[in-house]
Amino acid sequence: MKPPPFAYHAPTTLDEALQLMAEHGYGAKALAGGQSLIATMNFRLSIPSVLIDLNRIRELDYIEPAAGGGLRVGAMTRHAQVEKSELAAERAPLVHDTMPLIAHPQIRNRGTFGGSIAHADPAAELPAILRALQGRVKAQSARGERWIDADDFFVGLFATALEPDEIVTEVQLPPMPAHSGWSVQEVARRHGDFALVAAFALLSLDDKGACRDVRLTFCGVGEGPALAPSAAAALKGQQPSEQAIKEAAAAATNDVDPPGDVHASSQFRRHLVKILAERALSTAAARASGKEV
Ligand SMILES: Cc1cc2nc3c(=O)[nH]c(=O)nc-3n(C[C@H](O)[C@H](O)[C@H](O)COP(=O)(O)OP(=O)(O)OC[C@H]3O[C@@H](n4cnc5c(N)ncnc54)[C@H](O)[C@@H]3O)c2cc1C
Repeated sequence: MKPPPFAYHAPTTLDEALQLMAEHGYGAKALAGGQSLIATMNFRLSIPSVLIDLNRIRELDYIEPAAGGGLRVGAMTRHAQVEKSELAAERAPLVHDTMPLIAHPQIRNRGTFGGSIAHADPAAELPAILRALQGRVKAQSARGERWIDADDFFVGLFATALEPDEIVTEVQLPPMPAHSGWSVQEVARRHGDFALVAAFALLSLDDKGACRDVRLTFCGVGEGPALAPSAAAALKGQQPSEQAIKEAAAAATNDVDPPGDVHASSQFRRHLVKILAERALSTAAARASGKEV
């Protein structure tokens, strides 16, 4: 199938794009890498009357250091650029380790960092990472700009806090806390497929080696990227022993209500949550205590 007719604009500056978004409002959609949008238009699941193509806007394509050790990623930065970036590897190792797990090289050459965040696919890795790392999103419109914390940005199935005239222009990741470790663990039927479930852990230790802070998130388990507060609460203040991690991973199953579908039953996804949480937390704890993993 092909999409119904639509008007097409290809602005070369951000200001121009914001003006077009303001003019066309609800009927308009930003076109980034097109890896999801074009498919949904062809299936007529999305019927924009106007496409505003962001691909010629060079000012949205960058990976730069943020103050204090964080990372700034322009919305139109391709997945492949992030995958190859030494700065991203150094400052956001969880992102770096995850990039090769997202789709295939051809898709990573076109798909964008901002597009994945704005699309808010519940099976996508980057939204769940953004919540694990407590990143934030810069939303701009002709009316001005605002920052939205990751925990407030994802509001439901393919739904975000963006207004119809706003576009994502930057994603910011805060510096990794001292004595912290990270891990991504996922199960997909074939390499490059969306994961059935993926777990993302960021864990930091205090001077006595106890867990100071824990963030554990998942994709593939519900309507959006899911945070596991019970697992974090179970580990906080504890030494990250095998037993404590097992108990935290079991607690994570109470934080999610995974759907069943043709790919996996709800019960199997819940089982994966426990197994992947255990692996992610133990790897993150080992890294936080300086062990090579
Ligand atoms: C076969 C296949 C396998 C894939 N596997 C995975 C996977 O395993 N994991 C994964 O995470 N992803 C996967 N993807 C998705 C892919 O990685 C892209 O990240 C994703 O399609 C969105 O990025 P995009 O730049 O292509 O956005 P587009 O498709 O251009 O846009 C998607 C949506 O976001 C909106 N949008 C885009 N950019 C902005 C912006 N800056 N501001 C506001 N709104 C915006 C668009 O209007 C549209 O609604 C897969 C895709 C395919 C085709």
